[in-house]
Amino acid sequence: MKKPKLLIIVLFQNLVDEEPYYARNPAPPLPGILLAGMTPPIVEVEVLHEMVRPIDYNNDADFIAISFMDYLSPHAYQVAERFRIMGKTVIGGGKFASTHPDNVQPHFDSILVGEAQSIWPQMVQDMVKGKLKKRYEAGLSPSLDNIPPPRYDLVEKKYFTPIVTEATRGCPHSCTYCQLNIVRTPHRKRPIQDVICDLKNTKGLPWYKKKTVMLLDNNLGGDIKYAKDLLKEIAKLKFWGIGTQFSIECLRDDEFVDALSNANCRMAFLGMESLNEESLRDVQKKQNKVEEYKEYFDKLNRKGILTFSGLMFALDKDTKAYYDSLPEKLDEVGCSVILPSISIPLYGTPLYFKAKSEGRLIDGDLSHFEGDHVLFKHKHLTEDEIYEAYRSVNKIFYSWINIFKRWLRFLYKQSKQESVQQFILKMLITTVIYFKLSIFQRHHAQKRVFSRVKSRRKEMITNAKSKFYENPITV
Ligand code: SF4
Repeated sequence: MKKPKLLIIVLFQNLVDEEPYYARNPAPPLPGILLAGMTPPIVEVEVLHEMVRPIDYNNDADFIAISFMDYLSPHAYQVAERFRIMGKTVIGGGKFASTHPDNVQPHFDSILVGEAQSIWPQMVQDMVKGKLKKRYEAGLSPSLDNIPPPRYDLVEKKYFTPIVTEATRGCPHSCTYCQLNIVRTPHRKRPIQDVICDLKNTKGLPWYKKKTVMLLDNNLGGDIKYAKDLLKEIAKLKFWGIGTQFSIECLRDDEFVDALSNANCRMAFLGMESLNEESLRDVQKKQNKVEEYKEYFDKLNRKGILTFSGLMFALDKDTKAYYDSLPEKLDEVGCSVILPSISIPLYGTPLYFKAKSEGRLIDGDLSHFEGDHVLFKHKHLTEDEIYEAYRSVNKIFYSWINIFKRWLRFLYKQSKQESVQQFILKMLITTVIYFKLSIFQRHHAQKRVFSRVKSRRKEMITNAKSKFYENPITV
């Protein structure tokens, strides 16, 4: 007998209708394929990543599961409504559903609150029997032992790096804007052998897609000893390149840097966030010290590891003088690639409560919570000044001349410690990653920052008293 079909949709970066999937990443987000891996074989499963493929509403699935983040919630509700009108059963889940379930639940037949591993198999059983409850709660921090490997065989072919996983969840730090600080949970680690098992579960993938890996932890270095032990095991798998993400102070530990290098780490995403010490202190990012950045970036670059660094605008202690000096400061510290964004007061974070209590929230449209909008009134700067600084830094950093200059500087810093073949492979991989990231960020700046800043600003002023704040969320 034919099994019923479950379609898992991962909504992502559907920023504007006419351009739904320009945000092309080399690797997929983890939730869709992870959920597929946990799904009992009583249903057939398909995973659709909206980042690379539009939603086909005439698909043959009986059940739809939608995973989404905060800024995608208005879009998620529309997608769910369309499927529900067609008679399909629709389940919602993800970070926003887990932190604000009362707001999300009315839009779905059922929602999953929290981490799926302990509750999803039961939910699928109930779904097939037609006995779904309105809400399933997984508890705050269920065990991370024995999570089945993600279904890499279901990753869209367009992704160059289908092998993505995570070793840890949570973070020991308390940055006031971070989603992890809406509901704090302990930093937890998976058994190292489970992570290795994921990375080996590559049957059916073409050989060249088995060579690169992304570890999508919030902070791989939350327990530095664990991270080093894990990287030692990963090094044995001899990947051509891995990418990972960790808190910047981990780079004080030279053994950690060596472990990254030995595992062939080629790209590290770092929450640099600001080169303004006062702003860092203000958002409780105490682990970052601006005067250490240059040394850390140099350490990584010398080992052939590119840095991809978050950079936030509109932090309360920022000033016009700081923004004027920012392009030069970025050049001095030697970031390879930056991910600029305007700070987001995510609902329920300490940053949100602060802005709310001071009556400074000015835009409640959740679809604007993507990092390109000014959402709360700044203490010293006007919206125009913030948008102008955002535009100007993007423009200077991502000019072709600066992109090439940084690439040459990265090549120049290399200390050659391996065979000629290994060195050439390292340089090839880092060059591809560097230009892919830089060109994507340049494209983002052109599409989302330069041409849209003005129209978005007007739109924001019109919507200043949005319905959302007339009916604020209860957190
Ligand atoms: S270091 Fe990163 S993951 Fe940890 S709390 Fe701060 S922003 Fe969140």
